Amino acid sequence: MEEEQCYVLDHMTWPEFRSALEKVEIALIPVGSTEQHGPHGTFGVDAGRAAGFARLLGAKLYPRAVVAPLLPYGVSPHHMKFPGTITLDPETFLHVCEQIVDSLHQHGLRKFFFINGHGGNRPALSMLMQRLMVKYEDSRCGWTSFTSLARTARAKHVLSPITGHACEGEMSQALILAPWTFRKEAAVAGDLLVERGFKVEGIEVPQRFDILTRNGALGDATKASETAGEEIVQEALEAAYEYLIRF
Ligand SMILES: [Zn+2]
Repeated sequence: MEEEQCYVLDHMTWPEFRSALEKVEIALIPVGSTEQHGPHGTFGVDAGRAAGFARLLGAKLYPRAVVAPLLPYGVSPHHMKFPGTITLDPETFLHVCEQIVDSLHQHGLRKFFFINGHGGNRPALSMLMQRLMVKYEDSRCGWTSFTSLARTARAKHVLSPITGHACEGEMSQALILAPWTFRKEAAVAGDLLVERGFKVEGIEVPQRFDILTRNGALGDATKASETAGEEIVQEALEAAYEYLIRF
C-alpha cells in the first residue's frame, strides 16, 4: 500500500479533526470480521481487507473523506464450529455501527459510508441503512461489500465453481490489502462437502460453513495472485470513488 495523504481518525488529534471538518464530507467506516479463513488465512482477512480498502479510498478522496477506525468484529455465527472465530449478534453489530454514525453526526458529518469486508454483515448493514434513512433526514448513508464492485476482474480471475470465502478471489485481494493475513505457502483448495448448484439465485438458505467445507475454505487459494488482487482492488476502488464523488 503506497503512502498517500489521508485523514485517518485514530492518527489525528481533536484540533486536527476539527480543522479537517472544513474539508471532510464523508466518513468511511471499515467493518470486518474475526473469523476463520481456512488453513491459509488468518482471522484478520476480512478486517485487514476492509481497513486496507478504506485507506486507499480515503487517500483517493482526500481531503473529502476521513477514515474511521476499523470495527474488527462482525456477524459470523456460520463460522463458529471453527475454533477462534468471534461473532457478534446482528443486533449488537447494528447498534455499534449505528452509534459510530451517531457520534460522527454529532460532530457535524452528514455522509457515512461503510466499507464492508464480510458477507455475514450484509443483512445487519441493510437494516441499519433503513433505520438511518429515516433517523437522519439531513444525512446520506450507504455501504459497499467492495468485492462486488469488481465484476470484470472477478470474472477473469475467480474461476472455481464455488467461491466467496478464503478462495482465490479473496486471498488475491488479501495479497494487496493485508498481505500478513495470507500464509501463501499453506494455500489449499476448499475441501468441499457440497456440489456446484447447491445455491440457486433467488433462493436464500443460510448454511453453516462446517456443512459446506471440511477445511473452512471455498474455491482454490493456490490460484491467488498479486495480479488478480491488483485488478480486483483497482476496479473496485475506481467504482467506489466514482460513486462517492457524487454521493
Ligand atoms: Zn473473508
